[in-house]
Amino acid sequence: MKAAHLAEPFKIKMVEPLNMISREERQAALVEAGYNPFSLRSRDVYIDLLTDSGTGSMSDNQWAGLMLGDESYAGSNNYYHLAESVADIFGYKYTIPTHQGRGAEQVLFPQLIKKGQFVLGNMHFDTTKAHIEMSGGRARNFVIDAAYDTSTYHPFKGNFDVEKMDRFIEEAGADAVAFILITVTCNSSGGQPVSIENIKAVHACAKKHGLRLFFDSARYAENAYFIQQREAGYNDKAVREIVLEMFSYADGSTVSAKKDPLVNIGGLLIFKDDEELFRTCQAMVVPLEGFPTYGGLAGRDMECLARGLQESVDENYLAYRIAQVAYLGSRLRDSGVPIQYPTGGHAVFVDAGRMLPHLPKGQFPAHALANELYIESGVRGVEIGSLLLGRDPETGEQQDSPMELLRLTIPRRVYTMNHMDVVADALIAILARSKEIKGLEFTYEPSILRHFTARLRPIGNEPSALRVA
Ligand SMILES: *Cc1c(COP(=O)(O)O)cnc(C)c1O
Repeated sequence: MKAAHLAEPFKIKMVEPLNMISREERQAALVEAGYNPFSLRSRDVYIDLLTDSGTGSMSDNQWAGLMLGDESYAGSNNYYHLAESVADIFGYKYTIPTHQGRGAEQVLFPQLIKKGQFVLGNMHFDTTKAHIEMSGGRARNFVIDAAYDTSTYHPFKGNFDVEKMDRFIEEAGADAVAFILITVTCNSSGGQPVSIENIKAVHACAKKHGLRLFFDSARYAENAYFIQQREAGYNDKAVREIVLEMFSYADGSTVSAKKDPLVNIGGLLIFKDDEELFRTCQAMVVPLEGFPTYGGLAGRDMECLARGLQESVDENYLAYRIAQVAYLGSRLRDSGVPIQYPTGGHAVFVDAGRMLPHLPKGQFPAHALANELYIESGVRGVEIGSLLLGRDPETGEQQDSPMELLRLTIPRRVYTMNHMDVVADALIAILARSKEIKGLEFTYEPSILRHFTARLRPIGNEPSALRVA
């Protein structure tokens, strides 16, 4: 009989014990956290699926590289090694290290955006949108409609509706657009990939209008793996070749190194061949991030990143990584838990709107499900829905969220398939009693980025909540 899933393509050299507190202790911890998993202490979490950002495990080779850190202020060996790795993986000439992906955004965007200009994307990530707005720009999304339909299969739910974007540029005028940004994989639509065919079409559209094209590429390797698996003509191409082809269509990229490049902190601002833009950004990186050959990173961090870039395109690793996410997704789907289908690269998104139809959006169904999952199993997920979206800054009204999702984000090389079973079993148990789950209301609502520090309570459950507290 065939095994149910792929075995891990690594063996474990060092272990970090997990802490599992009792159900009663979890109940108390959640009350203390104001029914907001963001406010839990990590020691009270058993399996942490809050994010895949900076939570991956480094390899023995990366840890060995850490000891070769050259902490020279200028011209560190590790910078040159990093630039070589960037040239090798992306085919780009110019490298600026930054402390994270958002560091690259804050350096690049003000150079490109004039006040009031649009930045067109498939679906902008939240810090990206914030940096566009801080530079005086306006973020617009052109992801295909299929991205919003969680139950119907589409191989590339991160794709642009290029015709729609083209019409927008025709109407607004190319001068009103600062640049086009392709997010791979498309984080906000569920870690969904963009096809080469679509990247080419976006490239052609950018060229037609004389616009620059950039990638926001936290998960380029996962995107390339999906292209290899799903796109005609790419089945026998290596992931490395596909990454090179993807990046050949753009002028540059901001990179969050905390995702696919397998380090705990770091980012990159890279350019194919635009020397002038590179020089301008190099000058700006000094006051914002640090000297151009370290940009907010220690030499040892740059060495780990140089090595992580190479490991990110390892095909055995990627096959296992994507299969692990798909395994969790298929266990849930087979048991009737509604998820975004197909699963993306880095996370499984449970459709809490469909799982808890008795809860109105304003009672935060996905957040209620996150709390229930924590109580059931000590697993921490995160709400991507109305709580995250927040209120309209002008009217103060709750904005209408297109989806109410619970994101189960899988850190890289950290948990085994057995951990995925724990998560799946817990959600399947919750499905059986989902009608009992209560909605939530605020006891404290911060005015900006409220989801991080909000405090809530279950509706109609005040006395018992007070008793536990
Ligand atoms: C994480 C992420 C960023 C921001 O990167 P940080 O390293 O967290 O600053 C930008 N875009 C996308 C798509 C991301 O996933």
